[in-house]
Amino acid sequence: MNCFDFEEERIKQEIQDLGAKRVLLQLPQGLKPEATRLAKVVEEMGVFTLISADSCYGACDVAIDEAVSLGVDLIIHFGHSRFVRHEAVSTIYVEARALVNINESLEKALQLLSGYSKIGLATSVQHLHTLNETREFLVRSGKTVVIGDAGSVEHAGQVIGCDYSNVKSIVDAVEAYLFIGGGLFHALGIALSTYRPTIVVDPYDNRVFSLSETVQKLLKQHWVCIEQTRNAKNIGIIIGLKPGQKRVEAAIKVKELIEKHGKNAYLLAIREVTPEALLDFPTIDAYVNTSCPRISLDAPEKFAKPLLTVNEFMVASGEASWESMLKEGLFEK
Ligand code: SF4
Repeated sequence: MNCFDFEEERIKQEIQDLGAKRVLLQLPQGLKPEATRLAKVVEEMGVFTLISADSCYGACDVAIDEAVSLGVDLIIHFGHSRFVRHEAVSTIYVEARALVNINESLEKALQLLSGYSKIGLATSVQHLHTLNETREFLVRSGKTVVIGDAGSVEHAGQVIGCDYSNVKSIVDAVEAYLFIGGGLFHALGIALSTYRPTIVVDPYDNRVFSLSETVQKLLKQHWVCIEQTRNAKNIGIIIGLKPGQKRVEAAIKVKELIEKHGKNAYLLAIREVTPEALLDFPTIDAYVNTSCPRISLDAPEKFAKPLLTVNEFMVASGEASWESMLKEGLFEK
């Protein structure tokens, strides 16, 4: 049985409505095992079907250039909601909602939420359909529940790795957040952009946990990277080449700032920011990452040199205080 809703009937209908003849399927890593089965479903309609085998971490990374070069007339992007607005190739988004039951996990979450009465609710796109039942459950349990709808992402209550505006918009109205979703990244983003206690319901592992200790440890690691960057003489500024990650203007501003401080700055354009790729530049002492902030969040563990976000660099350069950047969000674009 599929753990996700791939909306195959909708896909077929959209292909028919658009008259697509050549389709590119794009899936994030966790969903790729379904790619061949989905390709068969599309091919059986008499449609030429390609699977993008490249990495895909977010809807910032729609394979537009690849589709154009392959003569594709429809991209089917799975696992994310719309993020990049573009007209180059028709694109449909299949959000792939997770078909997992969260009732048992919610019961466990109540214990960790016992000290709080006003709860902010948030989730990743895979679990958006559980927000209403979660809200009702918490209200029945005596909680006040708030769901943010700041309008910058596709759905109310949704967070994506570089946009926490929904949770930030309700920060003054809540005492703690409850996040429904797998992995640590989104939940850490909530905790780090609001500095409120954040409780995670991981529906895949049926696990419930608090992030307080992890957040403190992570902030210490990042503070060390900021301190190391203060002494850096040669700094690389990373420009991501994925469609929703390309921030050339922001990179140029960082370059000017670095040079104003009498240091050397180099602009590096790259599609995939990996520890291995950065090892090719031994003369660079530290990096400022204008692409995906998620990579910087993981950086102290994986990268040989500091890889700061722009907001972290503002602290390292003395242009902004640690406190002000914590408030703005260290890991937001
Ligand atoms: S967090 Fe990174 S991978 Fe996710 S949407 Fe933002 S830029 Fe893309």
